[in-house]
Amino acid sequence: MSPRIVGNHIGGVNRPARSGRTLDNVAPATGAVVATIPDSSAEDVADAVAAAQSARDVWSGWTTAERADLCDAVADALEARLDELAVLESQDTGKPVSLARRIDIPRSIANFRFFAGAVRHSQTGAHEMADAINYTLRRPLGTVGLITPWNLPLYLLTWKTAPALATGNTVVAKPSEMTPQTAAALADIITEVGGPPGVFNVVHGLGPSAGQALVEHPSVAGISFTGGTQTGAIVGATASRRFAKLSLELGGKNATVVFADADLDEAVAGAARAGFTNQGQVCLCGSRLLVERPIYEDFVTKLAARVEGMVVGDPAGANTELGALISHAHRDKVEGYIQLAQQEGGTLLAGGSRPSLPSPFSGGAFLRPTLIGGLSPACRTATEEIFGPVVTVHPFDTEEEAIQIANGVRYGLAASVWTQDLKRAHRVSTALDTGMVWVNCWLKRDLRVPFGGVKDSGVGREGGAYSLSFYTQDKNVCIQL
Ligand code: NAD
Repeated sequence: MSPRIVGNHIGGVNRPARSGRTLDNVAPATGAVVATIPDSSAEDVADAVAAAQSARDVWSGWTTAERADLCDAVADALEARLDELAVLESQDTGKPVSLARRIDIPRSIANFRFFAGAVRHSQTGAHEMADAINYTLRRPLGTVGLITPWNLPLYLLTWKTAPALATGNTVVAKPSEMTPQTAAALADIITEVGGPPGVFNVVHGLGPSAGQALVEHPSVAGISFTGGTQTGAIVGATASRRFAKLSLELGGKNATVVFADADLDEAVAGAARAGFTNQGQVCLCGSRLLVERPIYEDFVTKLAARVEGMVVGDPAGANTELGALISHAHRDKVEGYIQLAQQEGGTLLAGGSRPSLPSPFSGGAFLRPTLIGGLSPACRTATEEIFGPVVTVHPFDTEEEAIQIANGVRYGLAASVWTQDLKRAHRVSTALDTGMVWVNCWLKRDLRVPFGGVKDSGVGREGGAYSLSFYTQDKNVCIQL
């Protein structure tokens, strides 16, 4: 099959980069080129921003209810195409189709429905004085730039797009160059259901060219970026120089902390899910597993058996639990960490090698889920973000030690704590230096709650009212009575 040709979506129309240059979009499960995308430059970004700027008056002229209705229509259209979108997402990322059907696409739909409801019900304040009244107007920022990574492509793009549009902004999105197809589908959908031309634009291409040009563009009033910490530092420095509003959702090295009083089977299942969902490529994955010493051996034996039993292979397979990693280059990086772990004194407890798979997956970027013990919690393997199916496991003796190990990294995105002691759950959750803590669960998501990290995991919060606040600016009006 010849590769699909994906265009930039600018002013409601799909078109190539001005230079005519393209990039290949490779399916990591097979190595096949499934699409080409525009290799956009600053010129294409400028076109998209101009389209977004010229749509501002039309879009902010729609009432809140009309914009919310459009978001609901987008959700309905995504839902009608759920199966097709799940296949595209799997093709681009290598993830199991079943995972995309169960999580990525349903949550993308939920994002549009949720923010449609959120703006319908949003309120602003009034502050009375003896002789005057203040009231707060909430206005869209204008045109916002949304930059997203490859691990949850549509899920994260809709997490930003839905509140940005619902609050009246126009958007220029720059999805990851490795996962363009569902962003292109979203752009078509928004236009098909009646989004005015220029309200939602997508520019495909590389980060240092297309992404950087978007962050630099003087007419882009806000940047919401999700991606790696190193890239986030560049984006942050660039956006701050021109005082653009900024939200950064960055990397993680999250701890799963299991106390001896936890329900062992639930904790093993939770740790396996936290470690290896989406091939370990979720920013929230629990890649450091801390287990209280009395249950360490038992826990590790059970977990290793579970991990060894995970089904890796054909992303379309009904029983597949892990598909391919995002790319061969990324698998090389992850394998480099498995070698480093062994140099650092670690022992492979499960996985550690590539699975042997039949054609057409024999050349895919697959890796068996890997569990490593025997490492110092301070070593590189246990402190650097690997972003793959690799979990290191470490024993601890006291609550204080667990907290100290958990907090001993530069990241602070999320953690999960497994215990049946309620007081301990409160104490440990409070002491962990992270933006989010799950107790006896992992990745339970309520779209109203604050989402984001501390330390090198990011700046700012998104979700519910936090997103509405990020994509708007409040203006106070004071009237003398
Ligand atoms: P990345 O930082 O390499 O790329 C993210 C996006 O930024 C891509 O679209 C890329 O093209 C673009 N980009 C690259 N350089 C740029 C520049 N100079 N200016 C503007 N844009 C630029 O990240 P990735 O490899 O795609 O994704 C994996 C990372 O994302 C991991 O570190 C993971 O933890 C993180 N992540 C964080 C969250 C969160 O919510 N905190 C969620 C998902 C992923």
